[in-house]
This record gives sequence, structure tokens and C-alpha cells, in this order.
Amino acid sequence: ATLFAAVDLAPRDPILGLNEQFNADPNPNKVNLGVGVYTDENGKLPLLACVAEAERQIQAAPKPRGYLPIDGIAAYDRAVQELVFGADAAVLAEGRVATVQGLGGTGGLKIGADFLRRLNPAAAVLISDPSWENHRALFTQAGFTVGAYPYYDAARRGIDVAGMLAALEGAAPGTVVVLHACCHNPTGYDLSPADWERVIATVKARGLVPFLDMAYQGFGEGIAEDGAVIGRFLAADVDFLVSTSFSKSFSLYGERVGALSIVCRSKDEATRVLSQLKIVIRTNYSNPPTHGAQVVATVLTTPALRRMWEEELAGMRNRIRQMRLLLVEKLKAAGVSRDMGFITEQKGMFSYSGLGQAQMQRLRDEFGVYGVDSGRICIAALNTRNIDAVARAIAAVS
Ligand code: PMP
Repeated sequence: ATLFAAVDLAPRDPILGLNEQFNADPNPNKVNLGVGVYTDENGKLPLLACVAEAERQIQAAPKPRGYLPIDGIAAYDRAVQELVFGADAAVLAEGRVATVQGLGGTGGLKIGADFLRRLNPAAAVLISDPSWENHRALFTQAGFTVGAYPYYDAARRGIDVAGMLAALEGAAPGTVVVLHACCHNPTGYDLSPADWERVIATVKARGLVPFLDMAYQGFGEGIAEDGAVIGRFLAADVDFLVSTSFSKSFSLYGERVGALSIVCRSKDEATRVLSQLKIVIRTNYSNPPTHGAQVVATVLTTPALRRMWEEELAGMRNRIRQMRLLLVEKLKAAGVSRDMGFITEQKGMFSYSGLGQAQMQRLRDEFGVYGVDSGRICIAALNTRNIDAVARAIAAVS
């Protein structure tokens, strides 16, 4: 037998597979609502003006490309901390946060997963049911047994908070609980402030390890509003981890810009934690790439560019909100009698439309409208040119 004769063919990534199917579809009116990417009113992936300007400034004084430190660009890590925890946060003044640059939000999650696994090999991981596809796979690959806590309540079109709390109460101390900081992917339903308080109290009482995944800060209600959950964890004085992604908020998907921050008890503890994170990084890819983090650090720390970014991010957020309102209107006009108003209650890029697998299949086959079989559609891919066709197609299969 040959060396690799026994290698199985792995199933292809469901969402990327959907993309391939979309690309192969000859239908000129096809619409891709599958992948989680923001496109503008013209259906194009935006290059933010703040990013283009930062790149122009960086290009004006080109620098040689030495290796970065293992934990990344210091100014970038600092800017991430100030964005995530607030510039005047006591934990920063006290030096209690260990932050490393990561390869996108995924990289931040994986560094955290590898670190936690070494720290406590006996711990289990709980993710939301449902969750971002890659959470389960990523924590499983890191060696964890991954379970789920109830989250989406299809009948009530909301969150099963009681079920979630019961699962957390039943979890063994040390269990890692992955929480979506805002703009829950895939459902679009976020915990209310009161529910967050209950979740945090339970996590604290049970001695669980909260790992916040912040992939959409600024896509829900605003940068500060979406980040408010971090302040709640700080106020509760629990130790936690936060992964950050700038893929969406800077439209820098391909640059792989993200981070991991870990809030510790003391500066000394943070120093020791950081030293372990560096080993995880060093033995995986040695040190991170320069360009994306340099762009993000430049934008976040240059007041004029920072203002530009906040405006452009607000533009993306508001356009998504408009599309939610418009879709509800158009669905009604297209003859959907059920109240679809729940779409405007959801936050971020996605909507759990409530459509089943057979309906999603028909949307693809008969109308060239591509969403995920779970019923998830990407609202950030709607625009005034494609929304009528999408509404008519959904009405036809409803
Ligand atoms: N977490 C969630 C919830 C996400 O939706 C995504 C991106 N789809 C990520 C993490 C990963 O982000 P990145 O592309 O920056 O790795």
C-alpha cells in the first residue's frame, strides 16, 4: 500500500461548498446569502477608506519586513486592549490583561483553546446550540470534548435562557463556556443585559471558564454597545478570555487580523500566561504577519482615521439594519402572511429565517438564492438590487 492509501476524503466545508455550488450556477440572478461576508449596496466587498488611507501612509514610508515579536505588534496589541476593555479600564492600568495578535478571530480562538487544553486537560467545552460551525471543530481539534448548551428556541423565536442557565448550572467547574459577545452567529439573537447578568452570575458561581468570541463588534448596536458585555464580566470580577476579529469590522477578511486577550488576577499572572501563549504561537507559526495588524493599529490610533473607521462601520451597521426592515416589508408585500418582524430583532450579519432544509434547497434550485440549510441567511449580502428577488423567492417557498 502507498503511504497515504488509508487517508479518508474529509467532507468539504459546508459553507465553502455552498460557495462552490454558487459559483458554478449559471443563473444570472443568483444571490449568495450563504457566506458571512458584508457586501455593499453594489454587492461588492468594500475596501474601507480608512484602510486605504492607512495603507497609503504606510506605503509612503516603506519599512523592511523583519520578524514581528511572537505576540505581534505591541501598538496593535495595546490598541486591541483599549478597544475591547476601554482605554481607561482598571485591568489595563493594573497590567492584568495578556493580549497577543492572532490570525483572525479563528487564530485567537485556537491559541486560547491550545492554552486552556494544556492548563486543564480534563476540562470540557460547551458551545451554544447552534453555534458558528467552526467552534465545535476547532475545540475538538484542540483535544477537548465539546458539548452544547441550549440557545436557540425555534418555537419562541428567541433564546432558551432557562435551558442555557440550567446547562451552565449542571456543568463541572472548569468547563470552558464559549459565548458570542454580540451578533450571535448563526441565529442573530443576543442575550439581553438582564440575561447576561444571570449567565455571568452562574458562570462565576460554578467556577466556569468564559471564552467570549467577539467577531462582530460594531455590527449590532455600536462599538461601545456591542462591547458592553466585556464591562459586565469585568464588573463581576471573573477571569475570562476574549477573541477579537477585525475581518468584518475592517473588511480585512484575507489579511487575517485578530487577537486573543486573557484577563488575569494580577500582573504577575498575566506575565506568566503571556509566556505560555507565546509557546503556543511559536510552535504553530512562530510569529504573526505584519501588514493587516499594522493597518488596524494605524487606524485605531490615528484620530482622523479612527473617526473615519467609526463612520464607515456605522455605515455598514445601518445598511444591514435597513435591509432587515426592507426585507420584512418586501416579504409582506410578496404575500408572506406570517409576521416576519423577528428579522428586525436579530443583530449582526445573519438571520435565522425559520425556513427549513427543504425550503432552503428549493431557494437554491428554483431561484438561485443560496443560504445555509439551517435557514441562516446573510442579511449583509442583501441590497436594493437583489432584495425583491430574494423576497419573492422566500414567499414562493413559504
Ligand atoms: N467567530 C465567529 C462567531 C465567526 O462568525 C467568525 C467568522 N465567520 C469567526 C469567529 C472567525 O473570524 P475570522 O475570519 O477573523 O477568523
